[in-house]
Amino acid sequence: MQCEILTLFPEIISGVASQSILKRAQEMGHLRLRIHNIRDYTPDPHRVADDVPYGGGGGMVMKAEPIFQAIDALRQPGGKFRFVIPSPQGIPLTQSLAEELSQEHQSLVFICGHYEGIDERVQSGLAAEEISIGDYVLTGGELATLVIIDAAVRFIPGVLGDPQSAQQDSFADSLLDYPHFTRPSAVRGLGVPDILLSGNHQAIKRWRRKEALRNTLLKRPDLLEDRNLPDEDQQLIHEILEESPSALCQPKAGRSLS
Ligand code: SAM
Repeated sequence: MQCEILTLFPEIISGVASQSILKRAQEMGHLRLRIHNIRDYTPDPHRVADDVPYGGGGGMVMKAEPIFQAIDALRQPGGKFRFVIPSPQGIPLTQSLAEELSQEHQSLVFICGHYEGIDERVQSGLAAEEISIGDYVLTGGELATLVIIDAAVRFIPGVLGDPQSAQQDSFADSLLDYPHFTRPSAVRGLGVPDILLSGNHQAIKRWRRKEALRNTLLKRPDLLEDRNLPDEDQQLIHEILEESPSALCQPKAGRSLS
């Protein structure tokens, strides 16, 4: 995965990208990440990259030309780019979009907005995709870019210590994950389900599937809507509902399956 990140605040990106899995992914050659300071492409001696909005009003707008200049400097013969502008107005980031981005053969160019946003001509001129990480507004696109890259890089084989992790996580198979426990078996009077200590792998597998279904029913029943579950899952759901019929109408999820 190749990422070019255009930003006014390179340290936000480098600070996070130099830690943990993102660092390891780069060291292993699975992720190539280059950071470009948009201010390096301003003709202005004060390196100003924003200006007041046409039409008046408060706030500043990131200028188009320094961004176009930065992209011109990146272009190489044969090089192909997929442009991404993180934006609250974009399509929502999902697990499947993250997986798709992880398989992108073109370089991903992220353009991080700030202030009121970026001159609209950058989006239209580059036919850039806008991607949102949620229905709230951040101060800048750097954190969103890091979220998108982090979610994507986990799908690249070899990046995670355990290759099965990504397949078992929440949203894989449209279910939430099952609960996890680690040693010791008793913490402040709280134990671990006996089955996980039994060594019976078949029973543990069944328990995990059931708890993943239970979590999904309780927390995100919408993920199960319109899904054709196999008979074994139907049986597990039947058992869950017999154990706790209230799983059908949890106010927390704000929705009901009944
Ligand atoms: N005026 C813009 C609007 O209302 O759509 C918001 C601008 S926001 C203060 C500054 C920048 O943060 C945006 O240009 C975008 O790059 C980034 N940003 C903010 N919220 C985001 C979100 N939910 N997802 C992705 N990027 C976001």
